[in-house]
Amino acid sequence: MTESYRIALRVNGLRYSYPNGLVDHAALDGVDLTVMEGEKVALLGPNGAGKTTLLLHVNGLLQGSGEVAVFGRRVIDANKADLARIRARVGLIFQDADDQLFSNSVAEDVAFGPIHMGLGPNEVGERVESAMSDVGLSGFGDRAPYHLSGGEKRRSAIATVLSMRPEIIVADEPSSGLDPRARRELIRLIDSLPQTMLVVTHDVDLARAALPRCVVMNNGRVVADGPTAELTGNQEFLESCGL
Ligand code: ADP
Repeated sequence: MTESYRIALRVNGLRYSYPNGLVDHAALDGVDLTVMEGEKVALLGPNGAGKTTLLLHVNGLLQGSGEVAVFGRRVIDANKADLARIRARVGLIFQDADDQLFSNSVAEDVAFGPIHMGLGPNEVGERVESAMSDVGLSGFGDRAPYHLSGGEKRRSAIATVLSMRPEIIVADEPSSGLDPRARRELIRLIDSLPQTMLVVTHDVDLARAALPRCVVMNNGRVVADGPTAELTGNQEFLESCGL
């Protein structure tokens, strides 16, 4: 039996320089990357390599030159309606959970996306419950985000994205700053989610446990791409990535 896999993300010749950045320094200097549906990819590399800048291109928050396509739909220069459709398919988990939690209760934060997608109250309620359950926080809906532990906050932030039922999840350092138990829970959660993923991380354990493919960036380019178990088993290589 042959199965046909769809390309979830295609990036070709992507270049970007920050308007206030150094004149001769491109944050992205010709990035090529293809991610198939269902693949889970760790994005590694030293600070300043361009990892976050690449993530911000996947849902059009930044727009450089070259090509970025999500399930065949062009992100760069997309019109407003297309961009809204792309953003509903790509869930972005920020490095700081506080950027994603701004309401008085976790349930309100998790409902925010579905409400803005125009869904009715029953569907919104259902999605909030199932997203909270997926991240292991059933019953936490009435809690104030600022009263949660670091791990609970991080998982709540993930629920705010899951409630929109994205097909691709892009996440920036999701395990940073967590205590060991919260980190293990988060690794299990990432491993259990079925979505296509692109995850920026310095956490080799997270990559090994949940992200079978590893893409390494340096100086705004992809410099290695291969099985995580292989690439992260090479000490010299890890050190060259600042890990
Ligand atoms: P990484 O996520 O790999 O640490 P970034 O994508 O954050 O790398 O940064 C890539 C390059 O872009 C770095 O040289 C960084 O200094 C620069 N950069 C990042 N954000 C900004 C910004 N807001 N303004 C100017 N330069 C930036």
